[in-house]
Order: sequence, then C-alpha cells, then structure tokens
Amino acid sequence: MKLYRIKKSNIDKKGRGLYATQDIKAGTKIIDYVGKLITKKQTEESDKYDNGKPIYLFTINKRYDLDGDFPWNKAGLINHSCDNNCDYDGKGLRIWVKAIKDIKKGEEFTCDYGFGFDENYKQFPCKCKSKNCCGYIVRSESRWRINKKFAMSNKNRLINNSR
Ligand SMILES: [Zn+2]
Repeated sequence: MKLYRIKKSNIDKKGRGLYATQDIKAGTKIIDYVGKLITKKQTEESDKYDNGKPIYLFTINKRYDLDGDFPWNKAGLINHSCDNNCDYDGKGLRIWVKAIKDIKKGEEFTCDYGFGFDENYKQFPCKCKSKNCCGYIVRSESRWRINKKFAMSNKNRLINNSR
C-alpha cells in the first residue's frame, strides 16, 4: 500500500500536496524523488535552470544534478514547511523523501526546501503557518538573518512612532 495520496494542499492553496494514508514512524521512507540526471555543464548552459525552477534541482555530486521537474515525479508535489515532518535523503545517484517525525494518518507531508539566503528570497514567500515560520522559504540556517532583518525594521518603526 502506498504511504501517500495526492490531494489539494493545505499549505499551497493553488496546488496539490501529498498526505499520509496511515500512521508513519519517523525514519520511514515515503517516496522516491525521481527525475533526470543532468551534468553541471547542462545545468549551466540550459535556460531552464536559469533561476526559473530552483525548487526541483538537486545537487547529487560534483558532476551531476537531478532535475525533478516532471509530472511523474510525485515527490515534487510535497510542499515546503519551516516546521517540516519529512526531509530529503539519498545515496549514490538516488534521492528519496523520509519521515523525520512520527506522522499521523491524514497529515500533509512537508520538506524543508532549503533555498539559500540571498537578495531573491522574497520571490518565495512561505505560507506554512508554523510558529517558527519566517515568511519566506529559505534554509533553516539562514532564517535568523531574515528574522533579524524584520526585528530591526520593527524596532525602527517603534522608535519613529515614539517621537
Ligand atoms: Zn514557513
């Protein structure tokens, strides 16, 4: 029996997501992340990867990336959350999604997409609504920088208001 089913996402209102069909223990493999292996050279030369769909591109090793931007890659439907219950794992040339927490039947699977923090982070707003959400999809090590930025702009506002 498949551990997931596809339905409308609670996080991405316009898209779909993957949901648990049964209770799942932490560490369980949920689904393979399948795609096409491409060389770094192809990544650099193709327009497709020109910052258009960074979500689906994985670094496999020094030579290869994995492009998961295909309709048959069901794992690509898993949405980002800052409080994710799954994570990507892999060995050799293969990548899969595994549970990192115990997950209850009916819960939506979520991963941490882990984009880098750069000037473009505002392109990817996050609507996961978790307590620790910083409002944007960036990898966890970078979130404090955004939080700090917001804290600073709030502080400035307070100072301005008290005048
Ligand atoms: Zn979030």
